Parts: sequence; C-alpha cells; structure tokens
Amino acid sequence: MNKLKSEIIKFSKLLNSRKLSALRSGNISVRFKKGFFITPSGKKYSSLKNKDIVYVSLNGKFDKKLGIPSSEWKFHQDIYLKKEEANAIVHSHSTNATALSVHKKSIPAFHYMVALAGGNDIKCANYATYGTRKLSVNILKALKNRKACLISNHGQIAYDDNLSKAFELAEEVENLSLQYITALKIGKPKILSNVEMNKVLAKAKNYKRG
Ligand code: 13P
Ligand code: ZN
Repeated sequence: MNKLKSEIIKFSKLLNSRKLSALRSGNISVRFKKGFFITPSGKKYSSLKNKDIVYVSLNGKFDKKLGIPSSEWKFHQDIYLKKEEANAIVHSHSTNATALSVHKKSIPAFHYMVALAGGNDIKCANYATYGTRKLSVNILKALKNRKACLISNHGQIAYDDNLSKAFELAEEVENLSLQYITALKIGKPKILSNVEMNKVLAKAKNYKRG
C-alpha cells in the first residue's frame, strides 16, 4: 500500500518537473482492490506525503477524516467502473493539450502516433464544470474506444494498465498537441486515411519494447 502511495507521489512530482501540470493542477489515481488511491484536492505536489493520498471506493465512499480526495474523483471512479483495463489515470493541464481544448479541437490523424490513444483521433470532451458528474459523462463519451482524450477549456486525461504507461501516454498526448498546433501554423495539415490508420493500429500493438 505504501509502495503504491509513493509511486503516486513520484509521478505527481513528475507532472510538475516534466511540465505536464504546474503547482497543484491535475490529479493521479491508481486502482486498488475495490477502489482507488488518488491525490488529495488542492495540495501542491512538491509537499505530498504518503498520508495525503486518499482511498475512494468504487461506490464513491471515502473517509473525510483521512483527507479530501481530488475534486475530480467522480471521473476517476467512472473510468474504473466502465473500463476494466484501466489501472491508473493521469489528468493534467498540459499547455498544448489545453490550448487545443479551448478551441474544442480534437486531434485528427495528422500523425500516425495518434494511434497510441487507441484509434484514428484523440477526441475533445464537451465542457462541464470541474468535479461534476456531467464532466465525467462527457469524458466517458470522448473515451469511447480510446485511452486518452482532451477536455474542453480544461486539459487532458490518459489511462492505461499501469501508472508508468498512463503517464507516458499523457506525455505523448502533450507532444502530439504541440506538433499539431505547430503544423496548423503553416497551413492545413494532411490527414492520414482510415485505411492507413487501421494498418498503424494493427502494427502499434507490438511497438513498445521497454
Ligand atoms: P484537485 O486538486 O482537486 O485534484 O483539482 C485539480 C484539477 O485539475 C481539477 O480539475
Ligand atoms: Zn483539472
């Protein structure tokens, strides 16, 4: 249990140092038994201790005396309930993903690496107030057959079967967002066809080797 909490803290600090999220924005969770451990609400990552990491059960129960979970615990809960392959979730306000999200732009197949999120685009979820069940519903829609999405006027989410992979996917989404914004500056990018992306999706399953 302590190992899991320390891992969450290690990756929370990486949100800051890898420039995925400044100060206390974003949040991270890891599935554990019939619930998940999640970063606390409104605490700077640089000061996090194991005792600050909060446990929330899959039916949304937590002990307030032991700490207040991230204000976004509802979308973490719903992702774990709906996606059995999800074991870790990284939510961040990374600059370029957020910049696209304020224009409500999804990321099309301008680059084949978009396939890392599971399909031929990375969708942008509709806006809803942070921390609400409505936001969670919008996010789940954008995550249909995908492991990552942007969130309008907010940021991005990535999940995977472990925290290191979820964090890496969040970094990929940010990198793709920067590349897409750069490409848009010099004209209308050419988008890869569905036929080509299906080939990439089939190949990408065996891409990562360490
Ligand atoms: P929390 O500190 O409550 O997790 O809020 C950060 C955030 O990104 C809300 O969307
Ligand atoms: Zn947020």
